[in-house]
Amino acid sequence: MANLKLSHIYKVYENGHKAVNDFCIDIADQEFIVFVGPSGCGKSTTLRMIAGLETITAGDLFIGDTLVNDMEPKDRDIAMVFQSYALYPHMTVYENMAFGLRNRKMPEEEIKKRVLKAAKMLDIEEYLDRQPKAMSGGQRQRVALGRALVRDPKVFLLDEPLSNLDAKLRAAMRTEITALHKSLKTTFIYVTHDQVEAMTMGTRIVVMKLGYVQQIDTPMNLYNEPYNKFVAGFIGSPQMNFFDVTLKREGDVVKVTFVNGDEVNLPYEKVCKIHESYLNGDKTVTFGIRPEHVSVNKEGHGMRLIVTNVERLGNETIVYGKLGDHLEEFTMKDEGKNIVIKVVDRDDINAGDVVYAEPNPEKVHFFDAETEVTLMNKVPLFNTVHAKTVGNKMELLGYTVDLPEAYINALGGDGEVSLGIPPHAIVEGNDFELKVGRIEKVDDKNLAYLVNGDSYLFALVPDEVKAGDIYHFALANEKINLRKDGKDILAAVSDEESMVGTFTKTEVKENGDRVLHFFYNIGDYTIETAPENGYKINSIDGNNCYKYNYRYAVNRDNIRIVGENEEGLSGKVTGYVDYGNIRFAKVKAADEELLIKVDPDFKADKVKLAFDSKDVSVYSTRIELKLC
Ligand code: ADP
Repeated sequence: MANLKLSHIYKVYENGHKAVNDFCIDIADQEFIVFVGPSGCGKSTTLRMIAGLETITAGDLFIGDTLVNDMEPKDRDIAMVFQSYALYPHMTVYENMAFGLRNRKMPEEEIKKRVLKAAKMLDIEEYLDRQPKAMSGGQRQRVALGRALVRDPKVFLLDEPLSNLDAKLRAAMRTEITALHKSLKTTFIYVTHDQVEAMTMGTRIVVMKLGYVQQIDTPMNLYNEPYNKFVAGFIGSPQMNFFDVTLKREGDVVKVTFVNGDEVNLPYEKVCKIHESYLNGDKTVTFGIRPEHVSVNKEGHGMRLIVTNVERLGNETIVYGKLGDHLEEFTMKDEGKNIVIKVVDRDDINAGDVVYAEPNPEKVHFFDAETEVTLMNKVPLFNTVHAKTVGNKMELLGYTVDLPEAYINALGGDGEVSLGIPPHAIVEGNDFELKVGRIEKVDDKNLAYLVNGDSYLFALVPDEVKAGDIYHFALANEKINLRKDGKDILAAVSDEESMVGTFTKTEVKENGDRVLHFFYNIGDYTIETAPENGYKINSIDGNNCYKYNYRYAVNRDNIRIVGENEEGLSGKVTGYVDYGNIRFAKVKAADEELLIKVDPDFKADKVKLAFDSKDVSVYSTRIELKLC
């Protein structure tokens, strides 16, 4: 039994191919995690790194509390089951299962006990004397499982174990492996390209594409709230339908207009998390709806389509159609006009019919046409609030507040301005009040829909806030983006500062031993780092690491101003940025312009900055890679 932690894991093959990028996950003991994605997305590479069969280029892998990056596979207490079974053909089933244990010099008595127990669990007791060639694919796969089972490992790794089996056997083995997981109470990590396997077996699923994790979630969350179009299309069968549409809000309704001019109305309430900039009818967005979330009628409600084919599967019927009502207008290329609908208990739909399709407004998905990322984030990224500034005052949300100096300088005069306010920038305070329309639990956060005229302002609020309350709040001015006349004029202050520097080592004799010390060098600041970080950087870049530049990132809150005579990065103060609630000094140091948090009355020409090496993240400046 074990938990695992993969922290910023990368794999760059020797030919330079980046097979896995920044893979992070905490896997709890006894979870059944599935890695799923199309061929070549990096699933097996990740699994093989966990097994120790492939070196880890960067990042940390923990099994339990132990860092195992450099641990031999045999010491990791894991067992792996492969697609190819990898059984020894000349040995009997018993010998195959006993082989690994005999290698470990386990007493024959104990081996027998374990093999018999595993054989009983897998229902292969009667085959123990047979050779694998005299067995079916499904039986061989059980032997492969048995060979893993007898080792009583902390973690089971399974790499496409069922893909050599036929569909019926695959379905049966799925159930068996799930049952095995339940009875063993061990952590399972399972690789497959088959979304049905992923959905039916995983407690959580990692969806991957081209070496990048797309989403990590429970099966139902992946199905209901896919983060992007790729996940939406990958999970579910038949696949989600996608259409290019425009959206226009008209009061309580959002009009969805298809390329062929068809329109469907959705209640604004159902899509209110979509940012207003997508609701003007001038931006193409991708509309996604699953086949099972469309109903068919003949009365003219919804999108008009001509039925091209009908598959009657008994319990359900799959209707294939094309939007529009003239089949000859279309070619096979008209992908955006194809629609698949799954209906139950309908035998009145036939090929050639013109029917209407109505999406269930509770189940609609929208994605940005370019980034393909959902427009319906569980917690919206931004609220846009329109404001008017006059002198040193700003009118917004029905209130007039003082303009912070940073805003006055950026605005350059009176006028209309729009504020991009992320929900976390709405903080407790007394500058504004709005009524709480409703509260939604999002993971462990409370998302409040604050009623702002005919729209919502989304805020994260404490547990005690309830629907119907009046919520008092203020704005964290430094976390807000300002736009004026369609241009960004002041960007929110990021959480991190980043500086470029070099990496060095020194070798000293301590009590007769050779000891290496490693340092980050940023401007005139030299900061010693833990030896393991030094070894990590060295293992990735070799001895070139002492020639390369690195990007050092530090959370702004961890940068402190120290005395003139202390160790630190020397900087010149070039000015101040005052956000009212918080004030920063602009510091020129190590060729960067840094924003350093200071007290309201702080004044200086020069400063020394310091931070702890444990708070520094190190990135390669050559490829996108977090080293430590
Ligand atoms: P998956 O298991 O998702 O099908 P893999 O992890 O096997 O994908 O491979 C991920 C990518 O890395 C693929 O593009 C593959 O071609 C590449 N790859 C795998 N092994 C090597 C290797 N030894 N050298 C170079 N590239 C490799």
